Amino acid sequence: MEVKKKNRNEVFRYICKHGTVSNPDISYELKMSLPTATQITKELIEQGLVEEKGELQSTGGRRAKALSAAVNVRLAVGLDITKNHITLVLTNIVGEILKYERICQSYVPEDVYYQKVNEELESFLDEGNVERDKILGVGISFPGIVNLDRELITYSHVLGVEAIPFASISRFLSYPCFFLNDANAGAYAEGFQEEGAEPFFYLSLSNTVGGAFFGRNELMQGKNFRCGEVGHMTVAAGGESCYCGKKGCLDAYCAAWHLSEAVGGKLEQFFERLDQEETAAIKIWDTYTDYLAMAVNNIHMVLDCDIVLGGYVGSCMGTHLQDIWDKVFERNTFEEKDVFVRVCNYKVAAAALGAALKVVESFVRRI
Ligand SMILES: [Zn+2]
Repeated sequence: MEVKKKNRNEVFRYICKHGTVSNPDISYELKMSLPTATQITKELIEQGLVEEKGELQSTGGRRAKALSAAVNVRLAVGLDITKNHITLVLTNIVGEILKYERICQSYVPEDVYYQKVNEELESFLDEGNVERDKILGVGISFPGIVNLDRELITYSHVLGVEAIPFASISRFLSYPCFFLNDANAGAYAEGFQEEGAEPFFYLSLSNTVGGAFFGRNELMQGKNFRCGEVGHMTVAAGGESCYCGKKGCLDAYCAAWHLSEAVGGKLEQFFERLDQEETAAIKIWDTYTDYLAMAVNNIHMVLDCDIVLGGYVGSCMGTHLQDIWDKVFERNTFEEKDVFVRVCNYKVAAAALGAALKVVESFVRRI
């Protein structure tokens, strides 16, 4: 029974990944007999998860049936909660973004806020004419420590809340809810598409700094679900005050607002000024990258893996990645020539997408 389930799961993932395939393809690539492959796809068709789409071009002999995943048969929603915005994303079972919206809405730890979130979610789905019974659930990315064992958000310094049970949020929504820390969600989006991807560390540089380690297709959570909380790694003894109450944390130097506030609000504007070689912007970037390079080097020393720069700054920095690499290279004891720092692939709504993909994965795992 277990073998059969494992085979069916492998076949479904294979079809999702390759678009249009045939039973002989599946049999050959997954090293299973043709009757086994045919029986599995027959079951998947009966379940409505796979569709027949005519015949493939013949390479001699009988033409094979063309099979594709019914990618929109189930959908998932991603909801990213931040201090000043909510972001909504709708995806299908292969992780394509079907709809996206970002709404200005300040967080308040009250029922009225979650009622508003629910209203926004429902109107988002209405606009997309989404059949509600297709929805697998809502993945919620939250900027705090998300304890999956105790099913609560232990705390979020940035939102000024602690010990929020998942149920106290999910009761406002009409779908199963899955919770994820924001940096974990960003990392999950980044790692989801790359099957068997090399392990990497995702450094989330938004208005707070966080991080997550992704390896073997999973997130490492840590004993207290705080793995990767590098925003509170000390980079300057007795340095600047951090919102957590300590001094010299990475967050106190590398949160995105250090750059955006310097130009009056928009991070894109900061990078425009940097492109125009404005002295003030260059000076701020120089200090910013000093601390960032220190952090990247430290993380790399501990984990010896690639580091993906994500969040607002990672999404906006473009070619300025080189400045960081130059400083990391200079710091690195081992003089590695291969660049191990890169910017994220998902530049918009990564956390919301990652949370939605967690929902998708929990569905696909059960197929
Ligand atoms: Zn701190």
